[in-house]
Amino acid sequence: MLGAARGWADARGRRQRADDRRPFRLLGLPAVCWRCQRPTTALVGLLPADRRDVEDLITCAAQPVLAVAAAALSEQARQASGVGVLRPRFSRTAGHRYLSNGCRWCDALLGDFYLYTEHLPGLIAEHGLTGLTVVAVVALSEQQRQVIYDHGSTWTGWWHCDQPPTS
Ligand SMILES: [Zn+2]
Repeated sequence: MLGAARGWADARGRRQRADDRRPFRLLGLPAVCWRCQRPTTALVGLLPADRRDVEDLITCAAQPVLAVAAAALSEQARQASGVGVLRPRFSRTAGHRYLSNGCRWCDALLGDFYLYTEHLPGLIAEHGLTGLTVVAVVALSEQQRQVIYDHGSTWTGWWHCDQPPTS
């Protein structure tokens, strides 16, 4: 009887977890490849689907955040939105390999320093969120949201410490 009760609780728990996914927009940053000079898009941020403010943007500057965003982005949506392959690349600037954005045409590394320290803050300061493109809308689990709020930072580089209410 106890076993049956526990089984029921487990089944209910799994359903609750499955229902607990929340929609997020994956945001792209239009860029010009430093190597081939062609236009490409970098996956740089996540925004809860019900938010409109730039303060709610969580950048993908931290590796765990980019990993969540990359895993949530389907290959079809990546290609349709003109985002380059997300994979580890060696950076001479950083001196090591890291999960990174790349040019959709020639696969050149689009470095984090350029994306998050120079290009993204400049574009947001000038245009706000309208400067970014919506790459896809994805559903993130509670565990995935925990990762992005634990590791994510705002476009100004501050850590994100205030998770918006989920109800
Ligand atoms: Zn290129």
